[in-house]
Amino acid sequence: MPINTGAVVHESLNVLFDDDLFLPEIQEKPREKAFRALRSILSTPNHVSKSFLRITLENDEVIRIPAFRVQHNNVLGPYKGGIRFHESVNEDEVINLATLMTLKNALHEVPFGGGKGGVVIDPKEYDVRELNLICKKYVQYFSDIIGPDKDIPAPDMGTSAREMDWMMGEYKSIHPGENYRGSFTGKSVVNGGSLGRREATGKGVYFTFRYLFHNFATEQQTWLSERNHLIAKNILDLKDRNFTIAVQGFGNLGSVAALEAYQCNQLNNKVIAVSDRNVTLYNSDGLDIPTLVKFTIENNKDLPINDKELEDAGIKAKVIGRDDLLTLNVDVLFLAALEDQVTKDNMEEIQAQVIVEGANAPITTDADNYLNQKGTIIIPDILANAGGVIVSYLEWLQGRETQYYKEEEVFKKQFEQMESTFDTIYPQFFSNTYTLRQICYRQSVMKLSDVLYRQGKLY
Ligand code: NAD
Repeated sequence: MPINTGAVVHESLNVLFDDDLFLPEIQEKPREKAFRALRSILSTPNHVSKSFLRITLENDEVIRIPAFRVQHNNVLGPYKGGIRFHESVNEDEVINLATLMTLKNALHEVPFGGGKGGVVIDPKEYDVRELNLICKKYVQYFSDIIGPDKDIPAPDMGTSAREMDWMMGEYKSIHPGENYRGSFTGKSVVNGGSLGRREATGKGVYFTFRYLFHNFATEQQTWLSERNHLIAKNILDLKDRNFTIAVQGFGNLGSVAALEAYQCNQLNNKVIAVSDRNVTLYNSDGLDIPTLVKFTIENNKDLPINDKELEDAGIKAKVIGRDDLLTLNVDVLFLAALEDQVTKDNMEEIQAQVIVEGANAPITTDADNYLNQKGTIIIPDILANAGGVIVSYLEWLQGRETQYYKEEEVFKKQFEQMESTFDTIYPQFFSNTYTLRQICYRQSVMKLSDVLYRQGKLY
């Protein structure tokens, strides 16, 4: 089972209830009542909308496609979250992902709430005109509830800048005269998208890791070495030695994170394995990541799948089984492909001491508990993969102002915002027995609860 965000919210509230420093002005019976209200508000969505899009296919057949928009919470700002096109989309999954967006935005001080959308299709089964129609219908059916100040969708699995451009175009036709540029983010640059948006998540994922093992570990070296703490010891150990990385998934996120690792001169790391939907490529001396990135750009996104393709591309690597990557003898594993990759079935074979979640929920609850007990350092999705939504916020701002930032400015603002989150979260990792995921969730729940209380929503 993927991490159940509602359950982690409850856990966080239980800890906060006993914390005398949190909302000290509410005590005894009123405190119990306020926390009961928080439990129900934060673990349920404000709205779940479901429609059946009526689509006329190219062969003139008329079909109905189930589609969702879930608006979890907007106490911090307009709802925000991607639209997923996948055959396994279902209501519970969309609610779970919308909840995660509320928490992620709260954690990183992005002034948005949480939402998520989904359409139950395998996009590969539709041609481009049919996909264009599905996008337009999605906007038509949900046009009353989305908009730049209400709910701002973005791409997710199965959707990209192309779909956001189409959707924004449709929104503009339905709402003439409105500032339509802020209605969708993740658009193409020519259509009002932000420079740097494509790389933002992958760069942010590697930055989250580098910040802990280099910036934080260097600044806090003495403090960490005085701690009698296994995790502090492991961080200091990795900081100064040569170590190896494997990256699962070599798409937008994984390829950028791998390239950041390859180019990093602050840590002595080497990417020795990468995988995609077909294969794992392995080289114990380190893979030539820039050449692999070039290959995937030129060859429809997939990695070389055999010795001939590797030789033609001038890449030295061995082809091994796709899922073998997860259990390789490496120090650090970046999960940048899909949900539910480290599970009860393979958790005991995982050798990495550090796992960075680039994808959402790649570790199931059972595996998360097991690995935390074993002392594996898990940098959770909510902390690591927020680069995308932070730059989406910058895109929304730029669209409103119709003033566009240079790429360096975008990354500078993104990293500053993430750094401020790390400075709150990382020091807490060593002072108690909570995992990074629990600390992040608690921080988000604390922020949301405080704002809900101050807006008078708990009476
Ligand atoms: P993508 O489609 O560009 O890349 C996915 C990669 O994973 C591809 O290389 C694909 O071949 C590979 N893959 C698929 N199945 C695999 C398997 N079983 N084993 C190994 N590799 C496999 O997607 P992306 O934008 O890189 O996103 C990756 C994940 O991160 C997705 O789950 C996405 O929802 C999540 N995410 C992405 C962003 C973003 O801004 N891109 C933000 C937050 C979360």
